[in-house]
Amino acid sequence: VLSYFDTHCRQSKLVATAAEHVIPGGVQHNLAFNYPHPLAIRAADGAYLSDLDGNRYIDFLQAGGATLLGANYRPVRERVQAVLAECGPVTGLLHEYEVKLAELVCRHVPSVEMFRMLGSGTEAVMAAIRLARAHTGRKWIVKMGGGYHGWSDQMVYGIRVPGTGRMDAAGIPRSAAARIQEGFPHDLHALRRRLQLNRLRGGTAAVIVEPFGPESGTRPVTAEFNGELRTLCDEFEVLLIFDEVVTGFRTGLSGAQGYFDVRPDLTVFGKCLTGGYPMSGGVGGQRDIMMNLAGGLGGSQKKVLVGGTLSANPLSCVAGYYSILEMEKTQAAQHAGRAGDRLCAGLTEIIDRLGLPYVAYNQGSIVHLQTSGVMLMDARNPFKLIKLVREAESRKRSMEEFGAAYCAHGLITLAGSRLYTSLADTDEVIDEALNRFEDV
Ligand code: PMP
Repeated sequence: VLSYFDTHCRQSKLVATAAEHVIPGGVQHNLAFNYPHPLAIRAADGAYLSDLDGNRYIDFLQAGGATLLGANYRPVRERVQAVLAECGPVTGLLHEYEVKLAELVCRHVPSVEMFRMLGSGTEAVMAAIRLARAHTGRKWIVKMGGGYHGWSDQMVYGIRVPGTGRMDAAGIPRSAAARIQEGFPHDLHALRRRLQLNRLRGGTAAVIVEPFGPESGTRPVTAEFNGELRTLCDEFEVLLIFDEVVTGFRTGLSGAQGYFDVRPDLTVFGKCLTGGYPMSGGVGGQRDIMMNLAGGLGGSQKKVLVGGTLSANPLSCVAGYYSILEMEKTQAAQHAGRAGDRLCAGLTEIIDRLGLPYVAYNQGSIVHLQTSGVMLMDARNPFKLIKLVREAESRKRSMEEFGAAYCAHGLITLAGSRLYTSLADTDEVIDEALNRFEDV
């Protein structure tokens, strides 16, 4: 694997070495694959990425799940280029595509009556929490252990680095997360007790969850979980926030809430909202809650501040509008879901035939490949966890090594353990990928 990088990735290595001098860690964000060094990507098209050395990879990273239509999707790119040519990137004033995008999100996601565009998933989570607190007048927020909701102080504090148990909280004062609590995924009894206790201490504003389970379903929840969670939140008059940054539009135009038929009070979007174009984030929900953002302008008196110089810029909005229209037209989520099913079935077949101690499971176009023995699932019910397996070897190292081996065989994944499929993944692409996985 390392000799592949030595012989085939010389240009990438040059860029990666230069990067180390001016960019801490040599990469700008933690998604970038960096063992033994990052690949410098030159071109992206459909299911494929090409690096500076001319190597071609099947792209299952999809920018962390953002490019459901495939990389560099032409019909959207042309619309963005047209608005760029006419109006430039930003004016700070209203553009018609802001409204068109908001109307489209409201049309597809039944719980969303009003929508506000923001700069990222992280910002949208911050806005949702602020809205929930302002609307209810309560302080406590409960999240599920292991869930990722962006990198704001309040949401990062307490996250454990997998395999090490170390807190990833340098630079974050304990007070930043003083009103955030973590619950066990699955454990609604513990959650009930927590909500009861919180009642005596000022009350819970909201419970925030990723509807497929923490870390995009890496720790899946049962299919019934979300419905029972809704009932519990109603009982305690607590707002339910769905973080659909990954699942929004990817699991269908109405997101995971449509899939589970559960209506959250607030929903957080990102990633696929703009089809992967920059500044992708948004919060939507019930009109009376969302109107707290309007303040004196015909809304309630509780003015909740959100902002962002580049939030809702014309390029993000036109990209979002046409991405969602294209997802509608092409049935992108269904297509990508079938590709995910095919990929997962093929991986499972390889795992079984070769007797590997791994497990693959998917929720449509979100495919999990656990190679470090962290968990085993019931194959007939991917939402059911049947066995937790610990390994002496750190999970991180194993994932890095797998990630590097996949690269050397022309496959880009998210940290070696998650794969997103897209509209561009035809049967031929998936079958080619499966051959490469088998080689690894
Ligand atoms: N929530 C979830 C569930 C996510 O997966 C992510 C990003 N991976 C975020 C929030 C944060 O979004 P962003 O990276 O756009 O800030």
